[in-house]
Amino acid sequence: MAAAKSYDVIVIGEGVSGLACAGHARRAGLSVATFESNLFGGLVLNVNELDGYPGAESGTLLASELMQANSDAGVASIQEEVTAVSSAGGGFEIAAGGVYGARQVVIASGARLKKLGVPGEREFEGRGVSSCADCDAPMFQNEEVVVVGGGDSALQEALVLAKFCSRVHIVHRGDRLRAQKHLAERADADPKISFMWKTTVEAVVGAKMVEKVRVRRNGNTEEIAAAGVFAYVGLEPNAACAPSGSRRDGHGHLVTNDALETSTPGVWAIGAVRAGYSGLLRDAVIEAQRVAKAVRDRLD
Ligand code: NAP
Repeated sequence: MAAAKSYDVIVIGEGVSGLACAGHARRAGLSVATFESNLFGGLVLNVNELDGYPGAESGTLLASELMQANSDAGVASIQEEVTAVSSAGGGFEIAAGGVYGARQVVIASGARLKKLGVPGEREFEGRGVSSCADCDAPMFQNEEVVVVGGGDSALQEALVLAKFCSRVHIVHRGDRLRAQKHLAERADADPKISFMWKTTVEAVVGAKMVEKVRVRRNGNTEEIAAAGVFAYVGLEPNAACAPSGSRRDGHGHLVTNDALETSTPGVWAIGAVRAGYSGLLRDAVIEAQRVAKAVRDRLD
């Protein structure tokens, strides 16, 4: 099928890395389109306090500013889900709502929160099970909640919840945190936060709303009275649209070389979809700028 419209660069994903990359590429003189099937902004939309990223008031504001700047610069924003990228005539064909052409493709489709996969989790979604502490914390005023995980997300969101809740139980399967030290220290010092180590969640239990979380600790089953459950047990990459021949790691992330190009020449990957991404927002922005420059050099 002939492409409806062709661009020098198509950027898949309107998270911070995709928006930043598209803006740099456009300002370098290339014709650029971004594709997004959800709301623009990606995972930072749920983060009010951007850790290690001074100057931005919130994730929403940062994403909105990038989106506006791209629109002013002439980046086309296309609200369609990309289902496939395939090589065609020395460039690429992008299958979305229509078929589009691109000389180079940047995959910045990010990642989604992993689920716990326990009974009750799906059933109580929106009725106590939440994946956005920044959005939902005020609904748990003076209630007890459970946060699952021992990484940056779990601790950052536990600190948000502690401002509203009477107690935040961090349930972690391990005996040590993998979160950054400054988050661990703040959580440790917060009198409303307590840790349950070497503990796994077995089920989310309730009637109309979440009432308890059933956990396994030291070989015993225990129940924690809680009105809310927030699982931050890592991310899964949104890499399904990448060319089938592009190399992936064991977790499905796209493998790139030092220049951030995937094993399919002309297809680049930045941010959380990429194997080896640090998880830090400032690195996503740096990757975006590097790839925009590399793409421009390739097309010169
Ligand atoms: P993460 O670093 O992968 O941590 C996931 C945590 O969940 C780990 O503690 C892991 O336990 C635990 N876990 C994994 N699967 C589990 C399961 N099935 N059941 C129970 N626990 C499970 O994920 P993240 O915290 O979402 O962070 C993702 C990336 O974003 C990281 O690179 C992080 O640095 C970055 N990030 C940065 C900031 C910031 O800069 N402030 C904020 C948020 C996220 P184990 O430790 O035992 O493996």
